[in-house]
Amino acid sequence: DRLVTAEADGDDQAVEAALRPRSLDEFIGQERVREQLSLVLHAARARGGTPDHVLLSGPPGLGKTTLSMIIAAEMGVPIRITSGPAIQHAGDLAAILSSLSEGEVLFLDEIHRMSRPAEEMLYMAMEDFRVDIIVGKGPGATAIPLELPPFTLVGATTRAGLLPPPLRDRFGFTGHMDFYGPAELERVIHRSARLLDVPVDDDGALEIAGRSRGTPRIANRLLRRVRDYAQVRADGRVSREIASLALDVYEVDASGLDRLDRSVLHALVTLFGGGPVGLSTLAVAVGEETETVEEVAEPFLVRSGLLARTPRGRVATAAAWKHLGLVPPQNAAS
Ligand code: ATP
Repeated sequence: DRLVTAEADGDDQAVEAALRPRSLDEFIGQERVREQLSLVLHAARARGGTPDHVLLSGPPGLGKTTLSMIIAAEMGVPIRITSGPAIQHAGDLAAILSSLSEGEVLFLDEIHRMSRPAEEMLYMAMEDFRVDIIVGKGPGATAIPLELPPFTLVGATTRAGLLPPPLRDRFGFTGHMDFYGPAELERVIHRSARLLDVPVDDDGALEIAGRSRGTPRIANRLLRRVRDYAQVRADGRVSREIASLALDVYEVDASGLDRLDRSVLHALVTLFGGGPVGLSTLAVAVGEETETVEEVAEPFLVRSGLLARTPRGRVATAAAWKHLGLVPPQNAAS
């Protein structure tokens, strides 16, 4: 339920659909991936064929689903959206593949979480546009080959390294998505604000951008909370001051840390002198499960250079002390 989680929550879905860029030109940032993809699509269009299979890797909320929809839109073909966890049996995948129309884009989110038999079926489908449907069981089982229309698979994964090499090798192109910079997020916010009809000035957009953890999904979510505040407590316009007051109410600070993040840093610094301290001790001190501290709070603290994981335990960096308004000790980690 955190405001700063990069995962989609139920609340996001309807608004996200309305805010998705529909063409490569409208898609903000990720210049390299955009240019590479644009070449792949142009070349396929010029040849009159389907583009190679595309793998998009990167953290959640950076626009992988959006890009897959753009690929379909740019090619003028339909798109089918599913995910690895939804495909538990090879038969589930066979049913989807055999119903694809010519040139269709199949978007497979969390492709690394597909079952093994489905994955093996996918190898053949990607390479030869063919699957073997197994009919019957045991020694009497027979494989019936089924031709598929050419299609483009767009796979998304949070970590390309998790994919088995035979699967990774079957993609013609891999796009690595990175966190967005503040200027790019500012553009995302201006664009969304226009679509949502919220008047936001540049400083207001930048203030929200700075708290969005490099992630457009979070930027859009924070914008909606700021809009509420501006409507209820002010005249509806979003300035730096309004954005800052609104996000203070929601306890998202100027660097995008929320209450959980700050309580981990605070315990580390005030109770353990900045560490090193073991993960489980730290978790007890903040009254959370170790998994919550490790998987929910730490990744962003590490990415922000506020916390380091060392063989001897968790350590607060000098930046962490400063973030809490404290003077770092001489020996603080940098
Ligand atoms: P997940 O892996 O969790 O499904 P994702 O990487 O597929 O996340 P999207 O669903 O594509 O992310 O994007 C999340 C939201 O952020 C959408 O509302 C989308 O409109 C917006 N967004 C993402 N990237 C951009 C961008 N480059 N420009 C404008 N808006 C963007």
